[in-house]
Amino acid sequence: MRIKLNVTGIVQGVGFRPFIYRMAVRNGLTGYVRNRGDAGVEVLLEGEAEKIHRFMRDLAVQKPPLAQIEKINRIELSGKKEHKHFTIIKSSQEAETSGSIIPPDIAICNKCLKELRDPKDPRFEYFFITCTDCGPRFTIIERLPYDRENTTMREFPMCGFCQTEYEDPLNRRFHAQTVACPTCGPKAYLTTNTGELVQTKDPVRLAGKLLSEGNILAVRGYGGFHIASSTMLDQPLLRLRSTKHRQEKPFAIMAKNLQAVKGFAEVGSKEREFLTSPARPIVLLNKSPSYNLSRLVAPHLHNVGVMLPYTGLHYMLFDKVSDEAFVMTSANPANQPIVKDNEEALKILGGTVDYFLFHNRKIAHRCDDSVMRVNGSCQVFLRRSRGYAPAPIRLKNKSKRCVVGLGGELNNTSCVLLEDKAFISQHIGDVENIETQNFLQEATSHLQRLTNFHAETVACDLHPKFNTTMLAKEMSQEDGLGLVQVQHHHAHAAALMAEHGLDEIIAVTCDGYGYGSDGEAWGGEILNCALGSSEFTRLGHLEAQPLLGGDLASRYPIRVAAGMLQKARVNVENWLIQNSAHLPHGETEAKLILEQLKKGNGVETTSCGRVLDAVAAVLGICFERSYEGEPAMKLESLALAGKDIMGLEPILQGDVLDTTCLIEAIYRNLGKVSAADLARSAHVYLAKGLAALAIHGANEKSVKNVGFSGGAACNQILVQQMWETIEAAGLQFFVHQAVPAGDGGVSFGQAVVAGFSKF
Ligand SMILES: [Zn+2]
Ligand SMILES: [Zn+2]
Repeated sequence: MRIKLNVTGIVQGVGFRPFIYRMAVRNGLTGYVRNRGDAGVEVLLEGEAEKIHRFMRDLAVQKPPLAQIEKINRIELSGKKEHKHFTIIKSSQEAETSGSIIPPDIAICNKCLKELRDPKDPRFEYFFITCTDCGPRFTIIERLPYDRENTTMREFPMCGFCQTEYEDPLNRRFHAQTVACPTCGPKAYLTTNTGELVQTKDPVRLAGKLLSEGNILAVRGYGGFHIASSTMLDQPLLRLRSTKHRQEKPFAIMAKNLQAVKGFAEVGSKEREFLTSPARPIVLLNKSPSYNLSRLVAPHLHNVGVMLPYTGLHYMLFDKVSDEAFVMTSANPANQPIVKDNEEALKILGGTVDYFLFHNRKIAHRCDDSVMRVNGSCQVFLRRSRGYAPAPIRLKNKSKRCVVGLGGELNNTSCVLLEDKAFISQHIGDVENIETQNFLQEATSHLQRLTNFHAETVACDLHPKFNTTMLAKEMSQEDGLGLVQVQHHHAHAAALMAEHGLDEIIAVTCDGYGYGSDGEAWGGEILNCALGSSEFTRLGHLEAQPLLGGDLASRYPIRVAAGMLQKARVNVENWLIQNSAHLPHGETEAKLILEQLKKGNGVETTSCGRVLDAVAAVLGICFERSYEGEPAMKLESLALAGKDIMGLEPILQGDVLDTTCLIEAIYRNLGKVSAADLARSAHVYLAKGLAALAIHGANEKSVKNVGFSGGAACNQILVQQMWETIEAAGLQFFVHQAVPAGDGGVSFGQAVVAGFSKF
């Protein structure tokens, strides 16, 4: 009997061919296995029917740990036996849109970690030790199929020892493309900030010592550079904050091990699961009472972003020091993508760091760390990138057409939608300039090449001036693609609906800003939408509030607060003058704001983010947004320590939730009720009020599914309060689990609207 199998899914770069080889040999079959140009694997089997049957039975229940078998297409062949043995043969370039994909980067496995520490092992203390089950994938691959010559490992010909392992079917590194050792593999080296080599036999551990002593280093990893420093000493952190112009933005840290994390943060079982998973994301953890790291790591926040080492290099940084954790933050200059190349790093980061820890393997594709948070029993992605991209999101139905979604503007990703799979790119960043726009284009074309995908339609935001919108229009014209513009919050709602396989949803979508269908600034919306329709209904929203000075108002929450207080008819003049020191131009600016207030007729917004900002300003905890979400994040941290003692009942004016009464209540109780309790009450008011609008809409439309999306859906208090209220009304509540709740999920939502709707 002779059969040919075409296996699709995540089957390249995960030890699938060696696995097939062993199984074929074990069952006494001949033939071959090879990679295909579309990330799938082709198998030819020859032998007795009984043996092939046994092989197929094994294949149904076994697989290498990282493989995901999507489909096995079986063809019976006629003709005579052609093969004497079973072999792994040269890859074919044959390609169709199979929906297969190469895996994300994978953290060092336990077997490699053991070898890293074994003085008898030839890869003892080799910083880039990997095997079939671990190591970089997405960041080193230039083209398919996943063969060494198609990756940046091509520049490191294997030594005799590595070659022997590579060719030994019984070895863990049989056909592992990243196999390397100290003799033949990439090298690490340390330089000063001007690129002068520091002579040492042990650059990695010397780097650890330098960090411990208070130096700032740029450390090159799989997907780009990290800026690293001590978490114990204030001095390097202060220096880093002043040169990086990051006054307060929290730094992510890398802890030595799980035990070390428990010394300064609270780790629940779900959090532990993510921290130690092969994806190794940054997990936001609550600081514990014994938190003893510098307060400059994550100022004024109750939590801190922590990850565990994911390469041998990371583990070794901690070998010669007593530090439990180092700052490890993405090295990206303001509004630019993470730095990945050595020369570029010297030029851009030389003024920030004292030393560089380089390695000499090219990074084919940059990839930032992923960031997530656990809310009760659910996880939410703040950023879905390394360890996850480009693994697809599976959908319940097949899309009508192939779509590429270009996302919005901030925290962007792109998305390729192909039948029932959506491939979301790595984190791109804020597409406000040419550098990030180039990165977006590169990442999107790479995703299309990897999936062998030909777009029919391009989807983008409704905002006419976004770079992504203009790019989509260009693509549409040049390549003759259909163009679908999707309202920002509609995209959020569609993302939530598709992620959970729902046909219709009432979605509460809250964030900082989205261009509304009426051209106004939206951000606190109750939408009704259904899969298959390009339309949606806006069922309700937050009260529109003045946005004095437009973009300035998002930067200085005091401006939004002033507008709201004026509507609440409190003495806003006094309040503004008292707080004018928090405005860049002091009293002069305060007076100008007052004049604008009197005139009225300015721009307005229904944004939930701006209301939280205003509450933060009135409570005096944040007057300037130096990083995205800062006032709201600080407000949440404060609120977690408080109780809802105000017990404000939501006031609805038709389909609008009143927020003026909220700011008034906060203002009038300043000094009488603790700031933490007021912060808590503000959260509860908004969550209950938005839920009430959603419940009303759900009853009116007879829809049972209510969800919460948008950046504000990362807020633990809002999510929990809304969840309770929605479920108490007998409805089902949904939040994002696999797709980012914030703008990183917008490209996916756009693709869903464009892919499933009738046009
Ligand atoms: Zn390994
Ligand atoms: Zn070697």
